[in-house]
Amino acid sequence: MSTLIQGATIVAMGGNTGTEPFQGDILIEGDSITKIGKDIPPSPGVEVIDARGKLVMPGLVNAHLHTGEALYKGRYDNLPLELWMLYSYPVLDAEPLGERLIYLRSMLVAMEALKTGTTCFTDDMYESPQQSMAQLGAAVQAYDDVGIRATVSGHVVNKNYLDTVPFAREHVPAALQDEIGKSAPPSTEAYLEFAKEAYTRFHDRSGRIRFMVAPSAPQRCTEDLLLGANELAQQWKVPFHTHIVETKVQGCTGPALYGRSLMRYMHDLGLLHPGVTIAHSIWVSDEDIELMGDAGVSIVHNVISNQKLGAGIAPVRKLLGAGVNVGLGTDGICSNDSANMFDVIKAAGLIHKVTTPEYGRWLNAGEVLNAGTLAGAKTARIEHLTGSIEVGKRADLLFIDMKTSAFTPCNDIRNHLVYCENGSSIEAVMVNGDIVVRDGKLTRVDEAALLEELRQLMPEFLSYHAKVERSNSRLFPYIDEIHKKCALMDIGVNRLGTDDAYGTRQ
Ligand SMILES: [Zn+2]
Repeated sequence: MSTLIQGATIVAMGGNTGTEPFQGDILIEGDSITKIGKDIPPSPGVEVIDARGKLVMPGLVNAHLHTGEALYKGRYDNLPLELWMLYSYPVLDAEPLGERLIYLRSMLVAMEALKTGTTCFTDDMYESPQQSMAQLGAAVQAYDDVGIRATVSGHVVNKNYLDTVPFAREHVPAALQDEIGKSAPPSTEAYLEFAKEAYTRFHDRSGRIRFMVAPSAPQRCTEDLLLGANELAQQWKVPFHTHIVETKVQGCTGPALYGRSLMRYMHDLGLLHPGVTIAHSIWVSDEDIELMGDAGVSIVHNVISNQKLGAGIAPVRKLLGAGVNVGLGTDGICSNDSANMFDVIKAAGLIHKVTTPEYGRWLNAGEVLNAGTLAGAKTARIEHLTGSIEVGKRADLLFIDMKTSAFTPCNDIRNHLVYCENGSSIEAVMVNGDIVVRDGKLTRVDEAALLEELRQLMPEFLSYHAKVERSNSRLFPYIDEIHKKCALMDIGVNRLGTDDAYGTRQ
């Protein structure tokens, strides 16, 4: 099966042209791009797509996402991460969700992602109280069915919650501590066995699905688990995907637990290297940034989620300057609260302009688009497969109508993509050479029927979840104390702008 795209305006995001638009044709044979040029003649049997007036660009890469939060979309507001997590990642009284609900939840996110131009995402899947193979399999099935490219984890926490939040043992009453202690976290051996089986079952399914290891965060996992997971990641050439210093509380965690920053702790364990992808990286010092740059790690900048949870602003210009690879992500679907990467791209284009008056240091549209495509692919260790339009890469493409109001009048296409477009000009989406969205509609699944089925299951889920919220809200006053305590601590870094919380200025 071959497809010839003729007369497109192409933004390749790779090769010699980078972000510079040009007119041309693209030949796709099977799942891959085999030729890019001008006036490529159609061979017999080739399907020709007339792309005059269309912009063709690589699909967006959402480099950090938790579909597990999708059922809480729009549920919470004005809660900082540690308090919000009590409800979205409950530690008390959570019951495993059924596979059909997980299939629909994953499908909900994947459908929105594809329709708004994301062809590839990294779903860092966590399940309370603990992920099962069947639950992970349900998500994989959804991504296989809808046609998206996805890397799934394997997200694990294997320490008692109270040992992952600084000062929790001092603040949380003994009776609640006992209650939390009753649920045993998985052992290192159990997680590594789980990862091996998941890799065997799911990795490279349909040429689109990949598996990665995802120890939740250095302070949430034991050292032997971190090291064991890293060994598997290196062996399989998949990401070691983790979270480091998203919030001020987490910024205080390294000094409180390990007598050094969490980034330094990772460095000392030998866990900073090019195969490591770090979500957030907000509360990093200049020394941390140097360690990260020297090691060649990737980070994912979750700019909307970081605002929603009051986490702070990642020092992206400094990170790029140090040589860190920077992708973009939505993060979870109840801290964003959607899977639309065009929103993230716009926010990333805007937020750094208020961090410094030195406008020469602001991110430009081309840099933001690179973070949303090729650099994102690199965070998933698949930059040889996707993220740009280049010969030999898989055909993961967006077809964007340039006659919409977002592109009328049309000046600098890169600026339009970052500041004007929101995904609504997308006509078609191709993943792995297959058209998965045509005329704005998903081609492989019945979206309306799937959404209706999910709505039917929601009353039962929400009544269960309301009980979980009540149960976990008992921790709220103590975690609130810790949040306030950490807000006042001086850790030598400030990422909350000039008016810091609780009146402190640094
Ligand atoms: Zn995350």
